[in-house]
Amino acid sequence: MKIWKILSPKILTTEERPDNITTATQAKVKVTHLLFSENELPAYRGTLRPKYPVVPGRFAVGVVAEAGTGCIKTEKNTRVYIHDVIPCGQCAACCAGAPESCASMRAAGTACEGYLRDFVVTDESNLSPLPLSVSDEEALFIGIVSLCEAVIDRLDVTKGKHIAVFGGREIGNILCQLLIYHQAVPIFVDTDEESLYLASQCGIYYTIKADSMMEETILRITGGRLVSDSVYCTGSELPPALPFDMTAADGLVVYAGFDFPDFSAPLKPALEKRLTITAVTNDYSNNATAINRIVNKAVNLNPFLFQKRPVAEIAALFAEEAKRAESGGHVPYTIVNML
Ligand SMILES: [Zn+2]
Repeated sequence: MKIWKILSPKILTTEERPDNITTATQAKVKVTHLLFSENELPAYRGTLRPKYPVVPGRFAVGVVAEAGTGCIKTEKNTRVYIHDVIPCGQCAACCAGAPESCASMRAAGTACEGYLRDFVVTDESNLSPLPLSVSDEEALFIGIVSLCEAVIDRLDVTKGKHIAVFGGREIGNILCQLLIYHQAVPIFVDTDEESLYLASQCGIYYTIKADSMMEETILRITGGRLVSDSVYCTGSELPPALPFDMTAADGLVVYAGFDFPDFSAPLKPALEKRLTITAVTNDYSNNATAINRIVNKAVNLNPFLFQKRPVAEIAALFAEEAKRAESGGHVPYTIVNML
């Protein structure tokens, strides 16, 4: 197989490797599409000092080229989502047959090798077959929708409940759309107009710019009560303690994202309000739910699907997006055609 590797900051290279199935429950998957996002850049830019080499690529879709004799849900030509988080296989939860509760989930492209390669050989348990009505492009968002559904599981959503979502741009947007599907009333707070405009185009009614008027607006929307619960999307430029001020007493604050930066927040306001603080990350237990949500059109992904590049331009894409990130710009999703 051909595999792309980041050897050191700004050095992307390729390598050839053997790619044979070694156990009966493995399948060999031809990668057809990959989602390029901000997630790929820290290793390329060297900002997080990862252990090189890194094989990038967290979200990928493919078609089974060869299935082991013990595979039961996939066969040759089955279209699949390749899970973006893989259980470790060694912790107490994994050994007890509950890999979805794994204590050290490994994320593709960061904690284990990613999917920027022509073939992936993996155990069938790491693959979700795709229904015909879900396109390859939409399926690239299964991991993101799954994370949002895990947040919603944690929130105890009831009809009409006001829930603030702080930051996250696309993830914040998708989470708000799903909260509406679950009959909650999301209030999306972000720093830039473009993100808020896109959210309003996706049917999110309350979109608020994080400025001096924010608290007053939230009080007006909630009839003076503040929001019942809040979600803070990591990677946001908003202060991480902001949810403490905007959430009503005894509320829940969920920190959600694909990784957590090294941030801190004063706890006093949260303790005085008896807030419950929790986090959601690297959760694949909702992959099947996520596929259902996409089939049912519960979430509009179209605004995120228009930027596309062929894999032949992958080196240029890394260089351009790293430059954009370094100049403070937002890195949009790009769908990479791997064929
Ligand atoms: Zn484990």
